[in-house]
Amino acid sequence: MTQNSKSIWPPAEDTALFDIISREQQRQNTGIQLIASENFTSPAVLRATGSVLTNKYSEGYPGRRYYGGNWVIDEAEDLARERVKALFGADHANVQPHSGANANMAAYLALLDPGDKVMGLSLDHGGHLTHGSPVNFSGRLYDFVAYSLTASDERLDYNQIADTARRENPKLIIAGATAYPRIIDPAPLRSIADEVGALFLFDAAHIAGLIAGGVHPNPVPYADVVTFTTHKTLRGPRGACILCTQELAKDIDKAVFPGLQGGPLEHVIAAKAVAFFEANTAEFAQYAHQIVLNAAALGKALANEGLRLVSGGTDNHLLLVDLRTFDADLTGKVAQERLDSVGITTNKNTIPDDPRSPFVTSGLRLGTPAVTTQGMKESEMALIGELIGRTLRAGEDEAELAAVRQAVLELCDQFAPYRDL
Ligand SMILES: *Cc1c(COP(=O)(O)O)cnc(C)c1O
Repeated sequence: MTQNSKSIWPPAEDTALFDIISREQQRQNTGIQLIASENFTSPAVLRATGSVLTNKYSEGYPGRRYYGGNWVIDEAEDLARERVKALFGADHANVQPHSGANANMAAYLALLDPGDKVMGLSLDHGGHLTHGSPVNFSGRLYDFVAYSLTASDERLDYNQIADTARRENPKLIIAGATAYPRIIDPAPLRSIADEVGALFLFDAAHIAGLIAGGVHPNPVPYADVVTFTTHKTLRGPRGACILCTQELAKDIDKAVFPGLQGGPLEHVIAAKAVAFFEANTAEFAQYAHQIVLNAAALGKALANEGLRLVSGGTDNHLLLVDLRTFDADLTGKVAQERLDSVGITTNKNTIPDDPRSPFVTSGLRLGTPAVTTQGMKESEMALIGELIGRTLRAGEDEAELAAVRQAVLELCDQFAPYRDL
């Protein structure tokens, strides 16, 4: 910036806040990030997110805005829409939802009336808060009924889902999960929806990057509406997107704005455009493939440490660990805290039919999108699995925990994502 432009800004530098940001960057560079819903965005995505597009009010859609001055912004939002439609083969895209929860809320607003019956995966079997939790708007406004995983193999059973759908006659069937380690097949769900005359929404929040990379089936040809977040496996900015048929385009757009949101976050929409550009490459397909290979390798390493995996393994980017057979007294809460103390970031998670509360839990959820972005491969997953086993066995042994912390630092030093930022 020139001297002249600098002089118009407040002179005092906000060291308090920028010190915090710099410490968070340090934390991300020096720990192993295994939160299944997180990733590291590229410098280009960060640059778009921090751009002057944050200054503009753009209520409405390209070519139909409420305020003047939107001719440049329109190009950015159009680019985002065209790129995401091409990436997933969709007829229509809305790139304005601020988050995955907002995208789902807009989809419900477009498709349902309050009190309508909706069927989604049971929350304690991996469904999301917005799929009918009683403390969420979804559970308060709509009549949610749940389908479950089988008790025998802890997987979706499409015959069982069909039985539930025939019994309940929902207006909408939702697929998608926040803690399910297996492939979700959209084809049988479309048949079930057709048979009972329901609409079909696929919430691909977690797996959008795996779909874009061609390693999981694309729900777009099957579902009436597909919602997904842009910040999980897709590796874009924090936000979401809705894809739908041409028939539902108007209703979806009206539900997002003016139905639910005000001015769109055009700097974030620009960053979504960057992420869609990056995801439409052979390198990204390779990345998505490696996420799944890494999750399988991490699962194998954890099984070697004596940890039980829900459903026996994984087909995607995440693993759900049942801690009970490893140590009946070790809760997800304590395991998460102990792993945090050595720089391995995970989250406690309920396992199917968990006897403990969601604040305590008997499980841990782990994912490989972030470590795969860093360039780690199967051999690093084997090491991480071993470090997790050592940490969980260490109890209060401070010397052992310090030794693991040292090993974590050495690994991260080779793969720091934002060393030069
Ligand atoms: C993460 C997630 C969401 C919500 O995304 P937010 O951006 O956190 O609101 C919705 N559905 C599923 C299945 C998710 O995993």
